[in-house]
Amino acid sequence: MNKAQRRPLIAGNWKMNLAEPVVLEAIETADKTNVDVVICVPSIALYQLDFIASKAKMSIGAQDVSAHRDGAYTGEVSGLMLAHTGADYCIVGHSERRNYHGETNLVIAEKVRRVLECSLSPILCVGETFEERERNIDFDIVSLQLRSALNAYNTKVFESIVVAYEPVWAIGTGKSASAEQAEEMCEFIRADIKAFAGLGASRRARILYGGSMDDKNAAELLAQPNIDGGLIGGASLDAAKFAEIIETANRG
Ligand code: PEP
Repeated sequence: MNKAQRRPLIAGNWKMNLAEPVVLEAIETADKTNVDVVICVPSIALYQLDFIASKAKMSIGAQDVSAHRDGAYTGEVSGLMLAHTGADYCIVGHSERRNYHGETNLVIAEKVRRVLECSLSPILCVGETFEERERNIDFDIVSLQLRSALNAYNTKVFESIVVAYEPVWAIGTGKSASAEQAEEMCEFIRADIKAFAGLGASRRARILYGGSMDDKNAAELLAQPNIDGGLIGGASLDAAKFAEIIETANRG
């Protein structure tokens, strides 16, 4: 399975923002393309937006999930609850969760498990800080994040698993990784998946790039052989920019 056999995926991450006009534009654009499109919204908006998107090709996703199945965990939302809203995807291990909420690789592995057991697709975020890149430990960091979350799974499960390479220094900074830097790490991620989960898994897994992707730099990033799509923060709040990125992914 080469890049042409994996469906491109464009995922928006609204973070703690609401941008409903983007949904209608994204639904229209997604309908005209062969791109899987998902917008990951605050949990409180999942029911409402899934209702709007339920007849469309576009999917709705969550941004986080509890590491626990159910019980006395005030304020948390379980995988089953997300599944009941109609969500299809859930971001796990975003660097903002790792940094501001102390999420460890161990916790993130539990969250991936919760997402998969509820038949949602995890979008597992991995990526190094600027300092880790400077110290030449970026590949080690990414490999550890990847293996601790995914080494329990076999080939078939990788049809559902999405990995997003998001260098922390590129998120929300307006300073995207170059296409070469992004491809180098996404190629490494695919090779690493092959090493711990086998060739079939590495061919099935969709690998996204995220970090200041916008309508201007999307074409070059999405043209790379190991980049199957994008995880987009800021530009997913702008209907025209997000639609342009979807169309760029569709052009291949
Ligand atoms: C993100 O938060 O996942 C992200 C990629 O943000 P931005 O596109 O704004 O850098």
